Amino acid sequence: MELLFASQNRHKLGEMAALMIPHVIILPADIGIGFEFEETEKTFVGNALGKADHLYNSTGKISLADDSGIVIDALDGAPGVFSARYGTDIFGRPLDAIEKNRYVLDQLKDVPKDKRTARFVCSMALVLDRYRRFVVQETVEGYVAAKPYGEGGFGYDPIFLVGDGNKTMAEMSEREKNTISHRAIAARRMLGIIQQLEQSEVLHVC
Ligand code: IMP
Repeated sequence: MELLFASQNRHKLGEMAALMIPHVIILPADIGIGFEFEETEKTFVGNALGKADHLYNSTGKISLADDSGIVIDALDGAPGVFSARYGTDIFGRPLDAIEKNRYVLDQLKDVPKDKRTARFVCSMALVLDRYRRFVVQETVEGYVAAKPYGEGGFGYDPIFLVGDGNKTMAEMSEREKNTISHRAIAARRMLGIIQQLEQSEVLHVC
C-alpha cells in the first residue's frame, strides 16, 4: 500500500522507507504538493496526529506522520517536542545538529552519568479519514554521553547512549538502529495495525 508521509526530513524518510516495508512511503512532493506544518502541540502525539490530519485534509489520501525527539531528565524533559528547533545562536538563528548536540552537552557538563538519563520518543499517526485515526508512541531508554561518538544516524544520535550505555545510536549500523530504535518499535506496532485493518477490510472501503 502507498502511504503518504508527512515530513521533509530526509533522514526520517530513509528510516521509514526501510521500516514500513512492504508498504511504500511517498512524499507530498512525489504527488506535486508542498507540505508545511507548524508544530504547536505540547505532546508528540498531538503533533503527529496534527501532521497526519493536515496532510489527509489537503490530499484525501491515507496519511502517515512521525513526531519524535529526545527527552532529557536533567533538563526537565527538554528538548522534547522542541527537539528539531532547540536553541539559537547569538543572532537568533536556529542551531544545526552538531551545534544542538554541543548545546545539550554544555548544559549537562556538571551532571554525573547516573543523572544523565534520557529517552528517544516516537509518536506515529495514521489517518485513513476524518474519523479513523490511529496513533502509537514508543520510546528507547538511554543516557546522554559525555561527548559525541559515531557517524551514523542523524540529529541527537551521536550523544545518545542506548540502554546501559556501551554504544551511541550513531555508532550502530542502520540495521541495528532500525531494530532497536523508538521509530523501529513504533513502526512495528503501526505495521500490526495496518495488517489488522487490511484483514478486516476497513482499508478497502477508504
Ligand atoms: P520532528 O519530529 O520533525 O519535529 O523533529 C524531530 C527532531 O528530533 C529531529 O530533527 C532530530 O533532531 C530529533 N530526532 C528524532 N528522531 C531522532 C532519531 O532517531 N535520532 C536522532 N535524533 C532524532
